[in-house]
Amino acid sequence: MPEGDTVFLAATRLRAALAGQTLTRTDFRVPRFATVSFAGRAVDDVTSHGKHLLFRIGGGVTLHTHYKMAGSWHLYRPGERWQGPDWQVRALLETAAWIAVGFRLAVVELVETAREHEVVGHLGPDPLGPGWDATDALRRLTADPQRPIGELLLDQRVIAGPGNVWKSELCFLRGIDPWTPVGRVSRPERLVALVKQLFEANRTTGSQITTGDTRPGRTHWVYGRGGRPCLRCGTPIRVRQPREPERVTYWCPACQPAQSA
Ligand SMILES: [Zn+2]
Repeated sequence: MPEGDTVFLAATRLRAALAGQTLTRTDFRVPRFATVSFAGRAVDDVTSHGKHLLFRIGGGVTLHTHYKMAGSWHLYRPGERWQGPDWQVRALLETAAWIAVGFRLAVVELVETAREHEVVGHLGPDPLGPGWDATDALRRLTADPQRPIGELLLDQRVIAGPGNVWKSELCFLRGIDPWTPVGRVSRPERLVALVKQLFEANRTTGSQITTGDTRPGRTHWVYGRGGRPCLRCGTPIRVRQPREPERVTYWCPACQPAQSA
């Protein structure tokens, strides 16, 4: 599942390819914007906030997209073969040199650039954004002491960016049972600092490696390792999979002991 650092990296690549360039063709395959064309206009900037991508187009329009579970943006040279079927394309931006193709995007909408806050204004600070504010993140994280820490780490209104991989890995790295109410988490400011540190470490890769080990099966401490021995203590990693696949949780019951009431 794409997480905030993956989207940040996509924005970096899309900005390098498109910013300052004139669009020769656009195609938005959602009913509301199917007839809209920005051919002839320039792309001013491409930026991200958490998992949201914002393409600022000349004339004060912003294309807002969100991947949710399976979306992705690809960059192709003219004539290059696409790595996805045409029917999954939701948005396309073409310049003389590049074709940016958005596959399986869950959100494709056009908003006035001056009103971007209506689509991203509710989000918490982004660890990779220019407005990162650790104090604000800590305030949002600890506002309701009863809420479980794992749930809070997924809440984009608290910190914009982390998804399931980060949620499970962050709790492991701090030795916290994911169901601990945040009011019982010691030194929550260290968790906020760790989010920032890990996002920065993955800024140019978007790979969410937390162990420092790039070998297959060794990249994460707990995420995706249900039933396998903990890399630190050997205890089988537990997994809880609720109905929504985006809420799966992995943890080591020995390294992350449950807090007794
Ligand atoms: Zn363990």
